[in-house]
Amino acid sequence: MAENLQWYELPAKRWQERDGEGCRIWRDSQRQKMYNAENCLKRHCRDEGEHGRVDENAEFESIKEIEHYVNKLLKSAWFIRRWGKKENPIIVEIQGHTAWGNRMRNKMALPKWAWNKVVVLHELSHVLHAYDCGTVHGRYFCRTLLELIDHELSPESRRFLKKRFIATGVRSTPHPAYSEDTKIKKREHGRKLANKYGMATSSKDCEWNDMLAAAFGGS
Ligand SMILES: [Zn+2]
Repeated sequence: MAENLQWYELPAKRWQERDGEGCRIWRDSQRQKMYNAENCLKRHCRDEGEHGRVDENAEFESIKEIEHYVNKLLKSAWFIRRWGKKENPIIVEIQGHTAWGNRMRNKMALPKWAWNKVVVLHELSHVLHAYDCGTVHGRYFCRTLLELIDHELSPESRRFLKKRFIATGVRSTPHPAYSEDTKIKKREHGRKLANKYGMATSSKDCEWNDMLAAAFGGS
């Protein structure tokens, strides 16, 4: 049933991080790893350009040009299918090192160094990120960025970034939805392992099963 849904149609809780007791985790634990992977993609694009191929991470000349680019993307049928109709975000230039995007304010603030496609799409992913869909640079954020990179740079660039995500443990997929049957089987399997090794807490598999049961029990 639910598995026929597109990723952007899945319930928010499939993107949320939870601890062993099933409580939501708010710590933005993927942030640095995610930045590193993104920087690898930027370097890769630059290398391609230096070797006479296309540098897909195009630079923008001005905020006006970025506005034009983002607003056009937001109007496309491809975009609306995924995120619905959105008001054009406010885009401003700021000084300093930190670029940011914010859904509540529908705003992106970009210092000059950030005037390139990858960073603009990163900040746009923040603007598109529903509060309920996990942590700031969590699963939903990373999935959104991959989708935008695929469409706006190329499927190759998406594959490159996804490989970096996998290699460095950045999660970009929703939690699997287990049926009641599977959940019961998993709990049972955990219990068997615990019995076999004599101590529940020493078995990683057991902890994993318990964690899954806690996180998805009742869902
Ligand atoms: Zn960010």
